[in-house]
Amino acid sequence: AKQAGGNLIRFFNPKMQESINARITLENELRIAIEKSQFHLYYQIQMDSDNRVLGAEALIRWTNPEHGLVLPATFIPIAEETGLILSIGKWVIETACAQIKVWQKKSQTRDLTLAVNVSAKQFRQKDFVDQVQSAVQRHAIPGNLLKLELTESLLQYDTEVTIAMMKALNKIGVQFSLDDFGTGYSSLQYLKRLPLDQFKIDQSFVRDIATDNNDKAIVKAIIAMAQILDIDVIAEGVETEEQQQLLLGKGCTLYQGYLFSKPIPIDQFDALIGRFTDS
Ligand code: C2E
Ligand code: CA
Ligand code: CA
Ligand code: CA
Repeated sequence: AKQAGGNLIRFFNPKMQESINARITLENELRIAIEKSQFHLYYQIQMDSDNRVLGAEALIRWTNPEHGLVLPATFIPIAEETGLILSIGKWVIETACAQIKVWQKKSQTRDLTLAVNVSAKQFRQKDFVDQVQSAVQRHAIPGNLLKLELTESLLQYDTEVTIAMMKALNKIGVQFSLDDFGTGYSSLQYLKRLPLDQFKIDQSFVRDIATDNNDKAIVKAIIAMAQILDIDVIAEGVETEEQQQLLLGKGCTLYQGYLFSKPIPIDQFDALIGRFTDS
């Protein structure tokens, strides 16, 4: 269509064509990335208020032979649109379960939980529950060490099916965290129907918590909701002591952010754990 000239070309200015080409290239590169195992997981530590390690969140990275380390913001949206997220997501769950198994073998890391991000399309697969169950069973890990991070928008769709899926996974211990919490419109009425274990306060509310009274009020409301529902709260994007102290003062007990560590490769993460725990 590019060289069709005449009428057609007028609909596509060169800029548009450029970005279409870039997308197609990215899509092809993603297919190759899956085949050649160019993805890996980075791990970001999660802490409690007594400075004990709770576990980690797994965050995907792509090592592209040409561009080096690529962040998920660049490729997850395309992976979602093209459906490639299905095989990528499956790989993430598989790799996470394998990592939990490795941690199981050392007393120092035996109880670490690992949180993985699940995209809407991935969750809506007919066999999603089977995939997770089978990964947990094949790796012979305690299901409660695996935590799935879901977003409000994902949960709002087809509630009955969603609740049934979550309950089926609950049966083998799998936990659920509500990611980016506060950015959607979930009511207490609605949330109490979902078998959630954790709310994750979105980093946009943590960033200016020291100065912005609205953010302060929202964080307070989220924690109050969690207490009513008897759900844990973790704050993400915690970068300063001041933010942590303010969160602690409002009743938040779990933290994740650059204050403790950036997401890092597994060997660095294991070394970091060694520094937080005694033998
Ligand atoms: P998210 O799940 O909300 O992850 C939090 C993001 O904040 C991560 O970006 C993390 O590196 C970053 N972050 C953590 N602590 C701090 C901090 O103290 N300050 C600041 N400014 N940022 C912090 P990342 O790794 O680039 O991931 C971006 C998003 O990509 C994630 O947002 C998640 O939605 C998505 N993603 C990552 N891995 C996966 C995956 O395996 N599967 C799916 N479906 N999505 C993923
Ligand atoms: Ca997340
Ligand atoms: Ca988040
Ligand atoms: Ca986010």
